Amino acid sequence: MDWNKLAQALIPDENVKPLEWYEAQYPERNLEKGAQVTRLAPSPTGFMHIGNLYVALANERIAHQSGGVFYLRIEDTDDKRKVEGAVEVIHSSLKYFGVAFDEGADLCGNYGPYYQRQRAEIYHAYAKELIKNGLAYPCFCSEDELSAIRDHQTENKLLPGYYGEFAKCRNLTEEEIYANLKAGKPYVIRLRSQGNVDVKHTFRDEIKGEITVTENNQDVVILKSDGIPTYHFAHAIDDHFMRTTLVLRGEEWLSSLPIHIELFKVLGFKLPKYAHNCSIQKIDGETRRKLSKRKDPEASLTFYREQGYHPEAVRTYMMTLLNSNFEEWLLKFPDKPLDEFKYSIGKMGKSGALFDIVKLNDISKTHMAKLSEEQAYDFFKAWADEYGTDEQKAYFADKAYMLKVLSLCMGIGGKKRRKDFICAKQAVEMISYFFPSTFAPTYEYRFDKAVVKTVLAAFKGIYNYADDCSAWFEKVKQVAGENGFATDMKAYKADPTAYPGNVSDVAEMLRIATTGLANTPDLWTIMQILGESETLARLDKAVQALN
Ligand code: GLU
Repeated sequence: MDWNKLAQALIPDENVKPLEWYEAQYPERNLEKGAQVTRLAPSPTGFMHIGNLYVALANERIAHQSGGVFYLRIEDTDDKRKVEGAVEVIHSSLKYFGVAFDEGADLCGNYGPYYQRQRAEIYHAYAKELIKNGLAYPCFCSEDELSAIRDHQTENKLLPGYYGEFAKCRNLTEEEIYANLKAGKPYVIRLRSQGNVDVKHTFRDEIKGEITVTENNQDVVILKSDGIPTYHFAHAIDDHFMRTTLVLRGEEWLSSLPIHIELFKVLGFKLPKYAHNCSIQKIDGETRRKLSKRKDPEASLTFYREQGYHPEAVRTYMMTLLNSNFEEWLLKFPDKPLDEFKYSIGKMGKSGALFDIVKLNDISKTHMAKLSEEQAYDFFKAWADEYGTDEQKAYFADKAYMLKVLSLCMGIGGKKRRKDFICAKQAVEMISYFFPSTFAPTYEYRFDKAVVKTVLAAFKGIYNYADDCSAWFEKVKQVAGENGFATDMKAYKADPTAYPGNVSDVAEMLRIATTGLANTPDLWTIMQILGESETLARLDKAVQALN
């Protein structure tokens, strides 16, 4: 077989450049020793999984911590999965969580193009080289033929794939090949695998440690019939020419590693380091499973933005999943910037990371408790502007009022910060009672209607907006006493049955009447924020509701 002739027939010289040209065009990067070049290589599906952030963060930390480069490559070889505007979504959603690329798709950089579809020439040049060397060949098998092979393998419990005796086109004669080409039969280009599945090697994965890798014997497709490369082929070529030093990717790719090792070898490229990152899982009943795009809203990065989780809190949570010693560091240095944590690939989990929303919420509460009222205002406003209802958007029109609300609800200036807020959505919903447009109380009292009504009416009669906190509380006590409620807690505790309740029960009635809720921050301050007329109107409304 004249491989040169075949290579020229399949991929004419005028379509490609000599290989040295590519090597010269994309030289080794001029970086300090130890600097890592990492990348994120998503498909432009428009969907950003929390796993994308997880792996992006790990790659970003490793690159930037080592003085290296972190870039974005778009794996758009599968046209069916492509969605308009997807790259924009990748940039904006990762940026929101503090992950930015140094170069890549839609950014500058000397190692592009960073869209695989725009790199056809380089794939073709190397496919041609493999054909020339007898390491790749055209395969004319139809879908039906391939599925017949699969059926046969399944029935006979044989390893699946296109290899050995099943690799029908591997040994086509020159005449057969040219006849097929002449007949216009569609074809793909396959690797002529040199591997043997009986041979196993020890391989060092940067996360998983020493693993055993079986040699590849599959004649995998490297160029599809439309000339577009498969992931495997593009991965080897791109990571070589973009001078990636560490391929940190999801562990679902571990099973393809033998193919990649062989491809790097036949292409004559130095193998980068590999790190296979465990997937994010959740407990579902009795089982543990991967976070699923279909079943779990929290699998999508959009979820965290819609809910208004603070990006820094999500990032912090991701770090707890990514590095086992991160939490210890966080406890020691709760106020240091996250980037000061020394990220280490060796501390990444070898098996699935368990997603725990309760923990994320705890971290979020702690983070919210670090914000000033101004910072909270800006963050919540930005959330409301994007995701809030019209009423919620309008909450932010009177900034001074909102700052008072936030200051109270976040316990700013108090002995201890309150930790009621988890995320913007929940926080903005939680403060809805401060705003007449959304104040819609259901009033659930624990006492008899008649008692509540008397208490509310009595308090309303003596309420004075000018009262300070203690004068105000004296009035609550007064109403309590007049209605038989204990005002002396000691006496109440000594004999609770002697009273219908105590002063805090009376305060609760006032609280429910004013806010619709049994638990809120300090009621006197709430009334001060609401203002005199609104407070009185609410007490009135509550009395009316008891009629
Ligand atoms: N397109 C692949 C993915 O999104 C990239 C895997 C890799 O990082 O090499 O999973």
